[in-house]
Amino acid sequence: MPPWMPDQTVGEAIRAAADHLAATSDTARLDAEVLMAHALGCSRSAMLLSRMRDTAPDGFTLLVERRAEHEPVAYITGQQEFFGMPFAVGPDVLIPRGDSEVLVEAALTARPDAHRVLDCGTGSGALLLAVIANLPEATGVGIDSSPGALAVAAGNAEALGLASRARMALADWHAPGWAEALGGPFDLILANPPYVETTLTLDRSVAGYEPASALYSGELGLDDYLVLVPQLPGLLAPGGVALVEIGHEQAEAVAAIGAKCGLSSRLHRDLGNRPRVLEFSTAA
Ligand code: GLN
Repeated sequence: MPPWMPDQTVGEAIRAAADHLAATSDTARLDAEVLMAHALGCSRSAMLLSRMRDTAPDGFTLLVERRAEHEPVAYITGQQEFFGMPFAVGPDVLIPRGDSEVLVEAALTARPDAHRVLDCGTGSGALLLAVIANLPEATGVGIDSSPGALAVAAGNAEALGLASRARMALADWHAPGWAEALGGPFDLILANPPYVETTLTLDRSVAGYEPASALYSGELGLDDYLVLVPQLPGLLAPGGVALVEIGHEQAEAVAAIGAKCGLSSRLHRDLGNRPRVLEFSTAA
């Protein structure tokens, strides 16, 4: 425990918390600032600008202790920014990753004229809502097999003013006929399915907190692609494009699954230049 002083200023408490969190987190100082801003109920920039000499709020210590137990900052604050938009998140949904923004960019570039969008495994709704926020003519449906996730996604659609164009529906691509009532075919299909190998040991903040059903997909991490990808040709409208997130070592295997069912693919890399998204289209 750091020496929490009763009358520490915000600035002092952030410094002590950053030291304390250095053992847990690569981003200890940032984590401490975000948690303090949350405790103060203001933005991080407003805090840095004008609140550093205030007395630190009581609740801060508890938030820092949660982070010290490896709980992700986004679950503690209940929020994560993605594609410049604020998303509510909680333990029912995967925290949207910066690397997934490349999927949104690829979708908007591939089909700026898209009208119908499907998001498979929508979770917080981040991919679908980021895409349709940037396509004013488009409507979308996000499916998930988790009712808890759908509640989060629907709340995000509402909060972002997109509820009239985004429907969230309970569906599971393993179940026969799952897509029948979704109103396809689709110009764009988005998917960030589970793709982690069940044998892989993930970081404690991921493995201990994020939903296993959104992460793991069999020994090779390919089980969901094997079921979902062959169904894409039947869901795509003529000229339609599917953007599928992949693990950075899965590009070849997933492209091969697509090729087997007549899909050609193009690779997009993430911010760290790792393979991250396959863009599938039906061969012309
Ligand atoms: N990108 C996530 C991770 O790093 C995995 C997401 C997924 O399985 N869809 O843990």
